[in-house]
Amino acid sequence: MRRTAVRCLLVASVLAGSVLEGGLAKAIVSYDLKARLRPEIRTVEGSETLTWLNDSGGPVPELRFHLYLNAFRNNRSTFMVERGALASKSVRPAEDWGSIEVKSLRVPGGKDLASTLEFIHPDDGNTDDRTVARVLLPTPVPPGGRVTLEIEFVSRLPKVIARSGYVGEFYLVGQWFPKIGVFQNGAWNCHQYHGNSEFYADYGLFKAELTVPAQYVVGATGKRVAERANADGTKTYTHYQDDIHDFAWTACPDFREFHEFFVLEDPKVETEMIFLVHRAHLGIKDRYVRSLRQGIEFYSRNYGAYPYPTITLVDPAPGAVSAGGMEYPTFFTADSTSYMPAGVRMPEMVTIHEFGHNYWYGMVGSNEFEEAWLDEGINTYSEIKAMDRYYGADRSMIDWGGLRIGEIAYQRLSVIGSGRFDPILKSSWGFIGPSSYSLNVYAKAGLMLLTLEKMLGEPVMAKVMRTYFETWKFRHPTSRDFIRVAQDVSGRDLGWFFGQALESPDKLDYGISDLRTYEIAPPDGLFEGGKPLSGGEARPGADPKPPRAPGLFRSEVTVARYGEMIFPQEILVTFENGDKVREFWDGRDRWKRFVYDQGSRVRSAEIDPEGRMMLDVNSLNNSRVIDAGGPAAMKFGAGLLKWFQGLLSFIAP
Ligand SMILES: [Zn+2]
Repeated sequence: MRRTAVRCLLVASVLAGSVLEGGLAKAIVSYDLKARLRPEIRTVEGSETLTWLNDSGGPVPELRFHLYLNAFRNNRSTFMVERGALASKSVRPAEDWGSIEVKSLRVPGGKDLASTLEFIHPDDGNTDDRTVARVLLPTPVPPGGRVTLEIEFVSRLPKVIARSGYVGEFYLVGQWFPKIGVFQNGAWNCHQYHGNSEFYADYGLFKAELTVPAQYVVGATGKRVAERANADGTKTYTHYQDDIHDFAWTACPDFREFHEFFVLEDPKVETEMIFLVHRAHLGIKDRYVRSLRQGIEFYSRNYGAYPYPTITLVDPAPGAVSAGGMEYPTFFTADSTSYMPAGVRMPEMVTIHEFGHNYWYGMVGSNEFEEAWLDEGINTYSEIKAMDRYYGADRSMIDWGGLRIGEIAYQRLSVIGSGRFDPILKSSWGFIGPSSYSLNVYAKAGLMLLTLEKMLGEPVMAKVMRTYFETWKFRHPTSRDFIRVAQDVSGRDLGWFFGQALESPDKLDYGISDLRTYEIAPPDGLFEGGKPLSGGEARPGADPKPPRAPGLFRSEVTVARYGEMIFPQEILVTFENGDKVREFWDGRDRWKRFVYDQGSRVRSAEIDPEGRMMLDVNSLNNSRVIDAGGPAAMKFGAGLLKWFQGLLSFIAP
């Protein structure tokens, strides 16, 4: 009730054109957006009243904006060039391109500054790129002061591409309005739209009046606070949300709209789940509902209560796959499919993942341009934990026709074959290619956190994650901040781990390189005084050899570091008589040999017996067993072999 009261007050204040500080985040921005969808020309005519708080210690003379839809303006934009457009001979029809044009921009009562907008290219100097613009203000914004701008713009939506656009009568309107950058450390952090990167913005209050032809079903960030029918055959829906940093919406006459409530006692969560499912995909609806419930429950229980009054799931239209799997605050797009076997859990994984971004990206507002692992990697880790929790670790990804694949195995597959070009921590446009970007910031970062969890233990890791969320929600943490939390909570120096796993492209791969065992040969040759090598009686006279000690075996276990990443190792050595020995190795040298002279032979040796090295790129070499009557054979970890065989049968036609 208290939140509701605060919210109403904030709505009232925004409607009145003033800005209050309140809610959970410090409100740096306040947007009052108006948008009219004109489907006949695939265009949104918009206006915004933007109030920006200078939260820095010095005056700010210029403002910078993202104009993301210009990424789709032509094949010379940085986004299109990075996506390979220069090499493409295909010609797109005119209606496939998108753009955003600022028609006017003024400080209330002042003159129009639109003509003074200057496109800048801070990342790559590409003068054809128009995704970032700056404007010099008539007077600088003083420290602690605010500036309000009235902006009119026209957004032409592209044929659906990378999180935005239309297909038929389906519209996903994302990254569609002039969005101010983040002023931090005395400078603007406002990057161009890149082929790989996502976004970064400041928290605040967003209100939007969305006008569409009456037959369109509309969904949007935030809670619907008003709707009205207009005389011209349109309807206007008003949405509002605070404590967020972006606003997206969707419209399509073919959506079917469903509402359900999610309630949790501990922690206290009450939110309305809104499902906009394309009529061609209604068969998937129940899976969306179930997995969204699981997502809200898992993230609320493990990180912190979901605090918003709504969450909207959008199922994109057929043909709009590239609009699927995208997150915005309190609003996300799911997988887009009409049929998926029940045991292939792609719709569940995408739903839980995209909902999860409300935490890692939404509430914990890391910089997706510069440190994408902080949202995608942490979210992949969280998603794996949730999928394993609800569907079983050995079948969380696929459980179909006798084939079972857990999500960890699924994620490890992409890391196993990866190149060694990029570390996880890198600006999004600095990766050698899109696959290096995605395998590093998603899979490898997720596996890095699973490895950390194995090192620290699950309870400590759970505390790390919860503390990170609590400490950094509604703020902008960096990788340093995550590492600091992990070290503070665990009380351990983890610099050696993150330095390698996060900042270096080195691979982790240890194995049993050799395992041999043999009966120790009888003494042969000359021995001083005919004394045996150890113990026993010296024999006088002709035979100088010490007596044979039958039944003594030498066993040698050689472990090796095949990758560059150094990770302390535990080795489990098992003897034929059932004895077990655990050895520890700091893992620094390239190899180490453990030697045993005992009455029993070594039967097998296994490195990393607890399976802590989730980052290990080759777990096939982790153990060896002595075959009866033969040389030491590789022992394939049974689970992994099953997984691998399963994978092959899945890929094979
Ligand atoms: Zn993601």
